[in-house]
Amino acid sequence: MSREIPVYLTREKQKELADIANAIVAPGKGILAADESTGTMGKRLSNISVENVEENRRLYRQLLFSTDNAVAENISGVILYHETFYQKDDNGVLFTEVLKKKGIIPGIKVDKGVVPLGGTDNECTTQGLDGLGERCAQYKKDGAQFAKWRCVLKIQQYTPSYLAVIENANVLARYATICQQNGLVPIVEPEILPDGEHDLARCQHETERVLAAVYKALSDHHVFLEGTLLKPNMVTQGHSCTTKYTPQDIAYATVTALSRTVPAAVPGITFLSGGQSEDDATINLDAINKWPGKKPWALTFSYGRALQASVLKAWGGKPDGVKAGQDQLLKRAKANGNAAQGKYEGGVSSLSAGESLYVANHAY
Ligand code: 13P
Repeated sequence: MSREIPVYLTREKQKELADIANAIVAPGKGILAADESTGTMGKRLSNISVENVEENRRLYRQLLFSTDNAVAENISGVILYHETFYQKDDNGVLFTEVLKKKGIIPGIKVDKGVVPLGGTDNECTTQGLDGLGERCAQYKKDGAQFAKWRCVLKIQQYTPSYLAVIENANVLARYATICQQNGLVPIVEPEILPDGEHDLARCQHETERVLAAVYKALSDHHVFLEGTLLKPNMVTQGHSCTTKYTPQDIAYATVTALSRTVPAAVPGITFLSGGQSEDDATINLDAINKWPGKKPWALTFSYGRALQASVLKAWGGKPDGVKAGQDQLLKRAKANGNAAQGKYEGGVSSLSAGESLYVANHAY
């Protein structure tokens, strides 16, 4: 007996999602992750001795979003935190409108942070499914076109455990279908933290395990892959590993892990920077794109720290530092836009360029 396969997204909805995803990963473009929660933003601001109050957070995001229109040549989307999503610039214009006018697509972080997974060795999952459909519908109405949900996995002697891998894959799949039903492209982020002494091969092995489980869950949940993006870690050695690897080693391990696990239907992979220095994040992305192996998806950036460290330093919380901060953003965005095409020629210096941006057990 033949039977009809149910579809939960109409052709039009599928096309809308695929168009958004493809626009985000257009050649030479990537994402600015500016969705730091209030607590995380506090840590960034305290580094430059700026008080963590709503007005200072607004002033900083205003600096980012009022950067010269040229920034849109390399930044296609910005991920916002709820507070920022409804904030306005000095002229009373919503930040989401400021971005849209530049041709930049507003996105929204919809998870509610990591929580411990009981009975595991300090592993975690991510909460926020309750009421997610309603929240997504509202964000879509208010101008968001994509969303982000971050899950965190840890490499220790016996982790990521099977439980953590399965639980996080499943919650990412649930999030992804809910987003798609509400017209938002889900960025699926299973971040393996860089904490630890593990070598490159171990990171590659665990990245493959995690991504294989994620794509099995997305398939089980009937997620429309053409309307999704993946935000993974690059495959790198652990922060405390003493062996040094070249950008080419990292590129080979990263592309190999991705090609074994990420379906060709996925339009793009937007890496997180994960505590790499600004220079390393650019150089490694460039090496990944220069790598001659099979790469059926766009490979670009969705950086938080690696796009903002120099900006924060140059700004320093001072009104006369705004232009200097914006210049740093333009520089890093251009360098990463080139790296996303394997065309970075090096030599771009910025204030924080070589400085490690590693934060132990990083929360967002
Ligand atoms: P980093 O680039 O600072 O790792 O952050 C990106 C991000 O969005 C993590 O969820």
